[in-house]
Amino acid sequence: MIDKRELELLQGALAKLAIGFSNLPDFEEDFDEDALASVLGEAAERMQDNYPYFHPQYAGQMLKPPHPVARIAYAMSLWINPNNHALDGGRASSAMEKECIVELGTMFGWTDPLGHLSGGGTMANLEALWVAGRMHPGKRIIAATQAHYTHSRLSEVLGLPFSAVGVSNDGRMDAAAVETLLQLGDVGTVVVTMGNTGLGAVDPLLEILRLRDKYKFRIHADAAYGGYFGLSNALSDATSQAYAALNHVDSIVIDPHKHGLQPYGCGCILFKDPSVGRLYKHGSPYTYFSSAELHLGEISLECSRPGASAVALWATQRLLPLVKGGEFASDLDECLSAARALHHRLGASDFFTPLMQPELDIVVYAANAPTTTAASKLARDIFDRAASRDLHLALIELPVSLAKQWLPDISVDSETVTCLRSVLMKPAHKEWVERIVQLLEECAA
Ligand SMILES: *Cc1c(COP(=O)(O)O)cnc(C)c1O
Repeated sequence: MIDKRELELLQGALAKLAIGFSNLPDFEEDFDEDALASVLGEAAERMQDNYPYFHPQYAGQMLKPPHPVARIAYAMSLWINPNNHALDGGRASSAMEKECIVELGTMFGWTDPLGHLSGGGTMANLEALWVAGRMHPGKRIIAATQAHYTHSRLSEVLGLPFSAVGVSNDGRMDAAAVETLLQLGDVGTVVVTMGNTGLGAVDPLLEILRLRDKYKFRIHADAAYGGYFGLSNALSDATSQAYAALNHVDSIVIDPHKHGLQPYGCGCILFKDPSVGRLYKHGSPYTYFSSAELHLGEISLECSRPGASAVALWATQRLLPLVKGGEFASDLDECLSAARALHHRLGASDFFTPLMQPELDIVVYAANAPTTTAASKLARDIFDRAASRDLHLALIELPVSLAKQWLPDISVDSETVTCLRSVLMKPAHKEWVERIVQLLEECAA
């Protein structure tokens, strides 16, 4: 689990860091090594109570281990512990954050975006909807029923009206239902989800863009989970076209801590029009005085933020540039192909029925049973049995109206059906599909 080379690399990086401060008079922090060792042992023991997120037999929720370069760069920067709020607190890491933002913007075809990192996708979406509300005061926010629940909650926080629109059979936002709402005339912003969290379905951005020509509104793309897949060469044509159109939206959220190989605490908000920066203006007398250059805190709702996140992301993007055909992109292709392989393999199983073809790397599958209630109970039992055999899955509760078309023979005796769900977001998953299916079938039998 722990690679000793990582510790050596960290030591080397810290030695290099120390050179920059070698002109200072000697100063050492003292600590009681035995006491630390004992507390750290206790902490490590407490941490044993976790699912093995780093292992391919963790095939459940959206959890991806950080890249070693991110872990090491993050740890190295903690000896400085920069704060990316103001340049006074984190000069180098703020510059690195700005470089990361340019590279992320470039990935979406934007040359001059305004943006910054955030604690996560929720905070990034909060800023997107806050700006949306400032641009269209009092106007409605709409998102699909399969969009992240955070959008309705954030709209509530912001005091903006919110409506959910239904999804079509494949789990994507129903553009016709969007138009019906647009005709009411009070919609300010449509949230399109580029890879929803439950099913990995990508909303029909091209159709929403066509609607924008007719009805004026803002488009916010929530690409927290799926944003990086635009780099892939293995998407279906329709999905690929949706990603290619992302440069036409007004704001984008992407979570480097989801598919970007980062430790938690790394989301990102990007605005196409940098002039929205004016909306953040405030009169704080004490935070910004060290230079006329942009302090990231001037364009962020969060104040203190870890510079470590920027250092880790910068190192990762340096090692694995965000380009089509690169190593980072081909690792995403592996995830797509793992998901397709699992879907295909489950299609041949006597015990399971896969639902929609995975658009990204999420596979949803039902346990075969005569009724929806029995299928739900069986899925929960398999979830527990699999966990006891070190195969970790996730569950998803779907409206029967959405699941039924994939389960034509099932009798419906409930409104929802619980299905199994696996996010295959580690490239290594591809090699483990056969073993995962074998364990699943043993648990089902
Ligand atoms: C994960 C996710 C969020 C929430 O982001 P956090 O980083 O968990 O705060 C929002 N939208 C989508 C589509 C997500 O997948």
